[in-house]
Amino acid sequence: MTDQHCPGFESNKTLKEVKVRCPECGKEWEIFSDEADKKTKCAACGAVVDPKTCAVK
Ligand SMILES: [Zn+2]
Repeated sequence: MTDQHCPGFESNKTLKEVKVRCPECGKEWEIFSDEADKKTKCAACGAVVDPKTCAVK
């Protein structure tokens, strides 16, 4: 048996946290960078937020 490690680990270690702010209600939260390519939903008001345009620096 070969020495295996978790198959998801190699790709996960490059993840960064991206902070986004809801343009509707101003709520801020963090997502992982692999989720920044797709739209996310504000937990507070339900607005659909595009992380690429709503990222907080
Ligand atoms: Zn919101």
